[in-house]
Amino acid sequence: MGPQGVVTGITEQIARVRDRVRDAAVACGRQAGEVRILAVSKGQPAERIAEARDAGLREFGESYVQEALPKIEACGDDVDWHFIGNIQSNKTRAVAEHFAWIQSVDDPRIAERLSRQRPFHAPPLQVCLQLRPRGAPGRAGVADEALAGLAEHVAGLPRLRLRGLMIVPLAGLDAAALAGEFARAARCFDGLVAAGHALDTLSMGMSADLEAAIREGSTMVRIGTALFGARS
Ligand SMILES: *Cc1c(COP(=O)(O)O)cnc(C)c1O
Repeated sequence: MGPQGVVTGITEQIARVRDRVRDAAVACGRQAGEVRILAVSKGQPAERIAEARDAGLREFGESYVQEALPKIEACGDDVDWHFIGNIQSNKTRAVAEHFAWIQSVDDPRIAERLSRQRPFHAPPLQVCLQLRPRGAPGRAGVADEALAGLAEHVAGLPRLRLRGLMIVPLAGLDAAALAGEFARAARCFDGLVAAGHALDTLSMGMSADLEAAIREGSTMVRIGTALFGARS
C-alpha cells in the first residue's frame, strides 16, 4: 500500500465514479448494480493498480500486452484482467495465458488461436466481440453485417465463452451521434440474444461518456482517467 494520501485519493475517485454510475442508472430507471466498473489501468504503474485493488476494485483493463504482463505479475491473481486493446496474432498466446477476458475480438482466426492457446487448467477465456464504429471502415472491430457470423463462430470454440459486445465510438461525436452509436450497439446485442446467445455484457462508456452509455443499456463501463487521473 502506498502513502496514505494516495490511498485516500483513489478511494475518493472510486466513490465519485460509483456515484456517477448510480446516478446515471437511477435516472433511467435502472439499478447501479446492473453496471460494472472496469478500471482501465493502461499507463498506470503497478503500485497505483495495487492501491485501487486494495480500495475494492476487482477488474482491470489493459490495452498493450507487453505493458500489462509485469503488472499482472505484480498485482496478483485475486483480480480479473481484461484485454481491451487491438490484438495481433503474435500476442494471442500471452492474452490466452494471462487474461481472464478479452473484449476486442473482431476476427475468426484470432478467436481460433485464443481458443487453441487457452491453457487447459484455466477456465474458458471470456470474450466480447468489438463492434466497429459506424462510418469508419479502417477501424478495429467487426462490421454489423459480419457480427452474427462471428458470434456463431466464437460460440462454437471450446475454450472461449462469448459474453457480449464492446464498442469504442469515434472521438468527437456530438451527443446525438454518440447516443446513436450506443443505441446501435444495444440493438446488435439484443439481436444476438434473440438469435440464442446467452450474453450478459454490453461494454460501453468511458470517463467522459459513461452517462450516455448507461442510458442506452451499458452493463460495463471502462474507466481510466476518472479513476486514476491523466495517463503518463
Ligand atoms: C483507454 C481506454 C478506456 C478508458 O478511457 P478513459 O477516457 O481514460 O476513461 C476505455 N476503453 C478503451 C478501449 C480504452 O482504450
